Amino acid sequence: MDKLSPQQRHKTMAEIRNKNTKPEIIVRKGLWKRGFRYRLNHKRLPGHPDLVLRKYRTCIFINGCFWHGHLVDSSTMESSACCKIPTTNHDFWVAKIRRNKERDKEEQRKLAEMGWHCITVWECELKPKQREQTLDSIAFTLNHIWLQDHGAKSIPYPQLEEEDMQMPMAAEEK
Ligand SMILES: [Zn+2]
Repeated sequence: MDKLSPQQRHKTMAEIRNKNTKPEIIVRKGLWKRGFRYRLNHKRLPGHPDLVLRKYRTCIFINGCFWHGHLVDSSTMESSACCKIPTTNHDFWVAKIRRNKERDKEEQRKLAEMGWHCITVWECELKPKQREQTLDSIAFTLNHIWLQDHGAKSIPYPQLEEEDMQMPMAAEEK
């Protein structure tokens, strides 16, 4: 009696997927607030990164811990604190999650070859208590990448500070 029609099933799955985009919105809002600008779901790049920051040559992937097997060792494929692999149809899930992990790795390798940096943000890192720290750390990494790509080490510290007050790495200049 409670079987869903294909349309209903599709709708339910779409709703689940919509709910899962929430972590993406947290990252988008957090980075926007910190002054970063980005493009969404870049279809022409490997893996369709969730966010693309061209100025930083960086792709950001926001990964669900279950689907992408967070903290799951690729050789043992044992459940982790983040990713409990179901005992029902265990082999199916192991194969699926392993494939996803391999795909993630392969896509990031391709992006690296094309000269892109990749940042992976895990859903568990966006829990309310950790959220701001995670976003700060992404911002820090992006600024670090920018400085590296632009050979900023040769720019004297005071000048850099004047040019852009929001570069935290400037404070670490030796
Ligand atoms: Zn996780």
